[in-house]
Amino acid sequence: MHNEQIVLSARPNGMPNSEHFRTESIPVKDPENGEVLLKTLYISVDPYMRGRMNDRKSYVPPFALNEPLSGGIVAQVISSRSTELTEGDIVIGNLPWQKFITAPDASLRKLDPDLAPISASLGILGMPGLTAYFGLLDIGDPKPGETVVVSGAAGAVGTVVGQLARIKGARVVGIAGSDDKLHYLKNELQFDEVINYKTENVRDSLSNTCPDGVDVYFDNVGGDISDAVLSLINKGARIALCGQISLYNLEKQDHGPRMQGQLLINSALMKGFIVSDYAQHFEQGAMELAKWLKEGKLTYKETIVEGFDQTLRAFTGLFTGDNIGKQLVKVADPD
Ligand code: NDP
Repeated sequence: MHNEQIVLSARPNGMPNSEHFRTESIPVKDPENGEVLLKTLYISVDPYMRGRMNDRKSYVPPFALNEPLSGGIVAQVISSRSTELTEGDIVIGNLPWQKFITAPDASLRKLDPDLAPISASLGILGMPGLTAYFGLLDIGDPKPGETVVVSGAAGAVGTVVGQLARIKGARVVGIAGSDDKLHYLKNELQFDEVINYKTENVRDSLSNTCPDGVDVYFDNVGGDISDAVLSLINKGARIALCGQISLYNLEKQDHGPRMQGQLLINSALMKGFIVSDYAQHFEQGAMELAKWLKEGKLTYKETIVEGFDQTLRAFTGLFTGDNIGKQLVKVADPD
């Protein structure tokens, strides 16, 4: 067994590249009492990880320099000194980017591979799905016939937001960065309208596709796209502030137009949230998502790159729009 880990070797200012990371060989550590040895199967790469590469206070601490990056991982138990987990079990946890990981059983949750494909626990049935679920349904609270706009529409969170808005009877307008993505949103996910922000004038396209204004905006990207959407909000609009990916790699602070006046004159609500705010309701959220998935009311797509050595490419691809749906790295097959 040859073990490797990926560490943060320098803090990026701007777009991360190979100079900021290092892959190292490390020994496989035998499990102690209460621990298991895991083989990594799927690594989730997520935009929020970019924020953790900065040395800045946030809702999660920064990644430490010269320590492995970490995040959502699905893995298989290959040896166990735990009374809770046995060899062969599939688990999920917040784990270091390593091919083989020794971890305490208390840090892991066992998955039932018969319930849903194991990778779905990193996407539609996991953190991104729950982000869409709580952000849209609690803050956005779309009503039948209302217009919901979602940016970053073709990603892990955005694809679920649009489908949930449709389940609630709203009209959905999705904004994304390629015609392939637009085709997927419109034809497979039944979005009502789609806008390619790279080739269209977003303000004009929004005016055309939202003739009655915008009631709910689920903001995944910030920047110019959000300025354009916010200029069209209706009285009583709700804005779920989920992500600002267009700003994550800016080398210096961006100052956009001031939109507070729009919020004021429309008595609108803009609320930021972190999915963990809803931690005590995760089980209920995951159950409802799983039910809709089973009933065929929800569907999902994954973009999977193969090989541990492709992890950084998968991560940086989030900022160049390489993924449709959830971006994952497949490291190994289960035994
Ligand atoms: P995605 O699967 O949506 O991947 C990121 C996508 O963002 C890319 O595919 C790309 O699509 C788009 N993008 C990248 N750069 C830009 C840019 N400069 N301008 C506009 N779009 C861009 O990621 P997730 O679904 O995991 O996350 C979506 C957002 O939600 C992120 O901002 C993330 O930080 C946030 N988030 C927040 C959480 C919370 O708790 N608040 C939890 C999870 C995610 P395209 O081709 O369309 O450009």
